[in-house]
Parts: sequence; structure tokens; C-alpha cells
Amino acid sequence: MNFDHSATEEELRQRIQELLERGGLADPDFRHSGDTPQLRSSLLARFKRVGEAGYLSLGVDDGKNSPGLIAAREPLAAVAPSLFLAAEVSARLFGRLLSVYGRASQKGEILPDIKSGSLIGAVGLAETGMSVENNPFHTKGVAEGEGFRVSGSKAHVVNGPLADLIAVAGECDGGIAFFMVRSGTRGLSIGERLNTLGYNGVAISPLSLQGCFVPAASVIGPFPGTEAIRALRAWEDEILTAASLGLMRSAHEASVRYAKSHQSGGKPIIAFQEVGFKLAEMHTLLETARLLAFRAAWMADAAEREAPLLGRCAKVFCTEAAERLTSSALQILGQEGFKHSNPAEEGYRNAKYLQIAGTSSEISRMKIGDILLEGH
Ligand SMILES: Cc1cc2nc3c(=O)[nH]c(=O)nc-3n(C[C@H](O)[C@H](O)[C@H](O)COP(=O)(O)OP(=O)(O)OC[C@H]3O[C@@H](n4cnc5c(N)ncnc54)[C@H](O)[C@@H]3O)c2cc1C
Repeated sequence: MNFDHSATEEELRQRIQELLERGGLADPDFRHSGDTPQLRSSLLARFKRVGEAGYLSLGVDDGKNSPGLIAAREPLAAVAPSLFLAAEVSARLFGRLLSVYGRASQKGEILPDIKSGSLIGAVGLAETGMSVENNPFHTKGVAEGEGFRVSGSKAHVVNGPLADLIAVAGECDGGIAFFMVRSGTRGLSIGERLNTLGYNGVAISPLSLQGCFVPAASVIGPFPGTEAIRALRAWEDEILTAASLGLMRSAHEASVRYAKSHQSGGKPIIAFQEVGFKLAEMHTLLETARLLAFRAAWMADAAEREAPLLGRCAKVFCTEAAERLTSSALQILGQEGFKHSNPAEEGYRNAKYLQIAGTSSEISRMKIGDILLEGH
């Protein structure tokens, strides 16, 4: 097992760190649906900066995770969780899908703009009531002339109201295809931006397609099996695992700072054993989560047989650890923690999303059990 970072990954980690120190990447407070145009221009400006640093390129062409990529993701997920999620969905979900499963002409036309951050991508995969990956899709594409007529709907799409291109999964010719739909295409309706518990700097919306015509040149697939869906789910889970580390890091740092500086009863609260014990447990949780995430990423990179098992264990452990750690951080920050816009309160709200989205904690545990039953 080797958690060393390649030279490229280490350079990326340092460039991201430098960018964060220069400032201007943090999430602005554009949480209302009326703010969507400002959010899009703010995201594009910040995508450009992280794109120039190489953040939107690493792991896109090969679709692989690695410990070095996890290390580069954590600081961005700590400082700008919504930028992190929007950028990961655009590059390491939409971009990877295109890069691993798309045709050369599609990649040549779209990928450079995704990697530079000048184009925003999104993926509409899940449908209400189909969180297990082998359920049938209600979204369907029917061949017509030089393309497909697509109808269906998706309930939650990250970047939905901002994206230039959305890859919408659906059934087609007895297989599964991803229809790349440009914003503004006739028949595509993007619903109102959703008001969610967390990730308030991300634009999330439902979408529906009603007889939307998608040219054959804009279709990825169709594929006979569910392999592409499984790959997308695994990439999504990696993103949510890395997001957990960022939430934990910023909430932990905030609570250590607060516990040292805030006085109660004439002492800094870190002097109270109960507070010190909480900080100790939080530190242990963060370090354990990092180790598991690194080990899962190393296994994915080395294509080890156990990689799918460890990936699921990491998703469950890290996302649930994020809720526990941010809850303790909020408790330490006391009345300050209960106010809006501090890393503990924001992390606590965001952590819940990480357990629901991608492969939920419940389904992940079932899958872990299945793999163990089969003797992996
Ligand atoms: C904010 C947000 C953004 C999202 N963005 C995207 C996106 O960009 N693209 C995309 O494709 N999807 C997206 N999703 C959808 C997401 O990936 C999940 O598929 C979706 O949240 C599943 O929710 P559900 O209520 O439909 O799940 P349900 O399947 O209805 O599950 C509800 C509950 O029941 C549990 N459950 C379900 N089946 C079982 C079972 N067999 N055994 C035990 N427990 C079970 C689940 O774990 C969960 O706790 C997003 C979701 C959210 C909340």
C-alpha cells in the first residue's frame, strides 16, 4: 500500500492551497432562485481559476481515483464546499462519463471546455424511487431520423439550472444511453431551483424532457448492461467521500480555534475535559476517515479486487463521521455554532446530503453485505 502522491498530484495540491490562500474561491451567499444568474457567473469565474490550476483535469481521462487526488480535493471541499460539489459534478462526473464512455469526436468537442472550466456539465441519473442502480428508467429515447426523441424526468440535478450540457440517462434500443442535452433545447424544462437543507451555494433543480430531440452525435451509448451506471455511482460516491473530509477538516479547525480562544468561567473552554475529549474524538474521526478514504482511493487506482468493497465502506464511514464530527463542533461553538454561516453549522447541514445522495448509507451497507456474502 502506497499513499504517496505523484508529482502531478502534489503540484496540484500545492496550487489549490495557494489559490485558496489568495482568496476569492469561498462560496458567496447566492441561495435564492432569483440569484441563479449571479451564481452562474460566480461559478464560471471560480471554475476558470481552479481549471487553470489543473483541478478540473486530474482523474478525468482515466476515471480513476487516487490518494493524491483525495489530498488535492480536501482543502477545496473545506473552504468552498458548494464550489467543490459543482466542480466535481461538472468535471469528475459529467467529464469522466464523456471521457471514459464517449466517442472521440464528442470528447474533442466538449472535454477541453469542461477541463478549462468554461463550460458547466451536469448529470441526470437518478429518478424518484430508483436508488438501486438496476431499476428500469422511466426516461426513454426513441429513434427518429438522425437522433432520438427523449421523454422523462429527474427530480434532483446538481448544476441543473446553470449547466450548459446535461447528460440525461435513459433507456434506448434495449440498453442505457446518456443523452447530452444543451440548455435551451426545445422540450427541455428546468424546474425551479430547489431550496435545500445544505449545499446552498449549489443550484439543484428537477428537470423534464418532453419529446426533446437529441441528435445521435450527442448520445453516449447505448450500452447493453449497467456497467456505466455502476461506474457513475462509484465516481459519485468518491466525490461525496472527499466532500466529507473537507467538511470535517473545516469544522474541526474552527472548533479547535474557538475552544482555545473562547473563555467561559474565566478559562478557555479547551481547559474543560469534556471539551478536550470531544476534540480528541473529532481528531481521531478525521484521521481515521482520511486513512480509509486514502486506502479506498489507492485500491481504486491499483484496480484491486477489493476496491468496490472499500469504496463503499469509505462512503458510509466518512459521510457518517462527517455528521458526528460537525455535530460535536456545533456543540463546542455553543450559541455561536447555532447561528448561520459557520463551518460547524454549515457542515452539519451539508453532511446529511452526503449520506442520502450517491449510494445512500442503507444501500451501501446492503451492498457491503452482498459482497461479503459472495466472499468478494
Ligand atoms: C440535493 C440532492 C442533489 C442530487 N443531485 C443529483 C444529481 O445531480 N444527479 C442525479 O442523478 N441524482 C441526484 N440526486 C439524487 C440522489 O443521487 C439519490 O438518487 C436520491 O437522493 C435518492 O433519493 P430517493 O428519496 O429517491 O431514494 P429512495 O430510494 O426513495 O430512498 C428513500 C430512503 O429509503 C432507503 N431505501 C431505499 N431502498 C432501500 C432498500 N432496498 N433497502 C433499505 N433502504 C432503502 C434509502 O436509503 C433512503 O433512506 C440528488 C439528491 C439530492 C437530495
